[in-house]
Amino acid sequence: MADRNDAHAISHVRFSPLGQQFAEPEEIFTELRELVRSGDFTLGKPVGEFEAMFAAAVGTKHAIGVGSGTDALKIPLKALDIGPGDEVLTAANTFYASVGAIVEVGATPRFVDCDDTFCLDVDQLEAAITPRTKAIMPIHLTGDVADMPRVMEIAARHGLPVVEDGCQSLLGERDGTKVGGWGVATAFSMHPLKIINVWGDAGVVVTNDDEMDRKVRLLRNHGLRNRDEMEIFGYNSRLDSVQAVVGKWIVRQVEDIVTERARVAAYYDQGLADIPGVRIPARQANTKHVYLLYMVFAEDRDALLKHCLDRGIEAKIHYPIPLYQQDALAQFGYKAGDFPVTDRHARDCISFPVDQHLSRAEQDYVIETVRNFYAGK
Ligand SMILES: *Cc1c(COP(=O)(O)O)cnc(C)c1O
Repeated sequence: MADRNDAHAISHVRFSPLGQQFAEPEEIFTELRELVRSGDFTLGKPVGEFEAMFAAAVGTKHAIGVGSGTDALKIPLKALDIGPGDEVLTAANTFYASVGAIVEVGATPRFVDCDDTFCLDVDQLEAAITPRTKAIMPIHLTGDVADMPRVMEIAARHGLPVVEDGCQSLLGERDGTKVGGWGVATAFSMHPLKIINVWGDAGVVVTNDDEMDRKVRLLRNHGLRNRDEMEIFGYNSRLDSVQAVVGKWIVRQVEDIVTERARVAAYYDQGLADIPGVRIPARQANTKHVYLLYMVFAEDRDALLKHCLDRGIEAKIHYPIPLYQQDALAQFGYKAGDFPVTDRHARDCISFPVDQHLSRAEQDYVIETVRNFYAGK
């Protein structure tokens, strides 16, 4: 077998580490066997146990398991009574689901351009607030953390609730506060491509607000106060007991996972720093970045992407078409050029595999492949 640390032996660098993550699933199967025998599938014992562990990891009073990260955004918006005619302000560069959640409750997404942290540019936030704005949804994109102290100050001045999209930044931290510690509610995802993952879809809402906790618990389960009393209309969006078992197993490891991701990212930073054509985003000293994505700016990006793919490196673009320019959003009347920084990111950014299972040899291969691309130009 090839030496894991011999760069010359490498010819393929995969994006997803799931096969390695779950290579030894015996402990999970043992608990799943018990669950299957108990038949406790709907809001069963593992769900509550997982929620307590998740809340402890993030440092919030409550965590509520739901069906997906998208639902973990949608349900708090619904709990805030946001709906048709209301606007929610969010960052222009994000994953489809952030905006999908806003549209699902019937509200209108309004965008604020990003800065080179890939999070919303707080300097532009206040000017985007209108009388229809009913909430602010900052996205902690890539695993970095938006400038939340300033977001919260602006939100407080306008009496607006903040719902954080923490789907890419579990355990991200800024000025000593973790993602989830600012907003009235924060969404996390355990989709297979997130910081921690289960065997399908799952999401978590965290909050320190007892009333938000109560409403999210109602909304995820048909609005039921108990088996026989329905208080409001809600959804069927419970965290599966089966996924909660997997979640319990992996949430125990989350500190180690983010520490290791940051170590892998630091190694890239060092290796790519002197390559002309590559620019590494500024690393903020007061921020703990958890690197769901390792994203840099690259000259001649499309040719670099092809060069990497041709050499077996599963590099990716997050995201090649800015959301505001997608066909699905035509109804909101945006036009190309409205968010120039987001446009530049779509054109110049590239993401390389980054995770706790990536070897030094694989990283060296990525770094050398990028170096060779610019050397050959
Ligand atoms: C993944 C993701 C979501 C949605 O999560 P799902 O679990 O896939 O529904 C929302 N926002 C961001 C920024 C994400 O990366």
